Amino acid sequence: MATIFTKIINGDIPSYQIAEDENHFAFLDINPIAEGHTLVVTKQETDYFFDLKDEQIRDAMKFAKKIAKGIDEALSPLRTGIIVQGLEVPHAHIHLVPLYTKTQPMA
Ligand code: 5GP
Repeated sequence: MATIFTKIINGDIPSYQIAEDENHFAFLDINPIAEGHTLVVTKQETDYFFDLKDEQIRDAMKFAKKIAKGIDEALSPLRTGIIVQGLEVPHAHIHLVPLYTKTQPMA
């Protein structure tokens, strides 16, 4: 069965899309920690980020870096934090969390 993120990538579940390329899709988290909290998801349905091949991890991080630059330009956070996949959705992803104050929690 398709994961919730595959349904989002396929447009079966609506999302606020930020960007995509051949292998990745970026969209706003439905339950943001901060304004601009973005999820970067692999289009390949791999359960866990660290099960990806090394080159896939590199490519996902390169794509995430571009998105983080866009967040910096659009929202001017102090910095954009990076969290690699928690426990909720079994589909490889990276959280990009803009941080606006030094005391703001990442999660
Ligand atoms: P994790 O698996 O890293 O613990 O968390 C998954 C993240 O996906 C959560 O931050 C959650 O808010 C987000 N999420 C879960 N379902 C949806 C959804 O249907 N749409 C969007 N935009 N985000 C979702």
